[in-house]
Amino acid sequence: MEISEIQVDGYERVARCRDTESGLHALIAVHDTTLGPSLGGMRMLPYVSEDEALFDVLRLSKGMTYKSAVAETGLGGGKSVIIGDPRELKSPELFRAMGSFVNAFEGQYITAEDMNIGIPDLELVSQTTEYVVGLSRESGSSGNPSPYTAYGCMQGMRAVLEELYGEVDFNGKRILIQGIGAVGGNLAVRLKEAGATVLICDINDQRLAELRDEHGFEIVQHDGHETTECDIYAPCARGAGINDDTIPRLRCKAVAGCANNQLLEPRHADDLKARGILYAPDYVINAGGIINVSVELLPGGYSEEAAIARIDRIDDNLRKVFEISRNKNMSTRSAAAYLAEERLKQGR
Ligand code: NAD
Repeated sequence: MEISEIQVDGYERVARCRDTESGLHALIAVHDTTLGPSLGGMRMLPYVSEDEALFDVLRLSKGMTYKSAVAETGLGGGKSVIIGDPRELKSPELFRAMGSFVNAFEGQYITAEDMNIGIPDLELVSQTTEYVVGLSRESGSSGNPSPYTAYGCMQGMRAVLEELYGEVDFNGKRILIQGIGAVGGNLAVRLKEAGATVLICDINDQRLAELRDEHGFEIVQHDGHETTECDIYAPCARGAGINDDTIPRLRCKAVAGCANNQLLEPRHADDLKARGILYAPDYVINAGGIINVSVELLPGGYSEEAAIARIDRIDDNLRKVFEISRNKNMSTRSAAAYLAEERLKQGR
């Protein structure tokens, strides 16, 4: 196994690992550990080049620094990528080698699940490093993050309602959820319980029908769903749905959902502001999962009670973001970055 360093301005440590025996070709980026050791998922994709993988790992690790700074997890930002087709390259040897690579960071990088990496893969990784979180609940770890992400999003929506209407009352509010998978489905049920009128859209017709039959949600066609009049539009599917094409057609008062990278480009936060649509920055409102997993690292280990108490602060974080946005006349996206930078400055 050969580990080599890559010098990148603004990043604490970036390294590549090549292991001919297992076929591992991977990168780990630690962006910033001012607030604690870096935590971020491991993803596996058939990147066309190492440069493409490097671009991804740098962007994602920096994003984790900001996400954790705002969520106050006491952690920094890092990420890892394995270059290769998960359908062809996965093997126990590959993941054990990846564990040794993670271990070479001596705890400054802690890994977790991300795209194309599941708990069985992480269990193999954990054979060669202790710096892994998000294993199964049975093993004493924090388990599936999705219900916590959904719970955190709902907490965040409280701040959104307050900002829109001066009070937190879900009764009769029309909330449109795009994508009713692990997170969106859970969120839909919670919102209905709180009294909201829940509208759902997805490309999976069977899942839509199941949820409608069980909970009485209203189905909206996914093509053109953004033109649906509602109080809150909650993207919970893929990223980039907020763009030049959709923004003029939105008929919601706020965008607040769990999907990562909802804005196609940063400037779209300004376009939402210009249209008077309140945007809850994705990485602030979808932090429930990372907060949940971070609790594993507290002295005494994981407890759901401790996790919920911390996730409950998401609405306060959003209130701060909205306040900064108002006071400094900047988009909520810029305001979230400002809040993260402030917390990093305090930590330095
Ligand atoms: P998932 O795969 O379980 O669900 C996604 C759902 O979106 C599926 O039902 C899928 O059919 C649907 N979908 C895909 N394309 C669509 C489209 N064009 N229109 C409508 N529906 C579409 O994924 P998930 O775990 O629920 O995550 C959803 C989003 O939240 C992702 O962007 C993910 O990165 C983000 N997120 C998830 C977590 C978590 O804890 N799972 C944490 C933070 C962020």
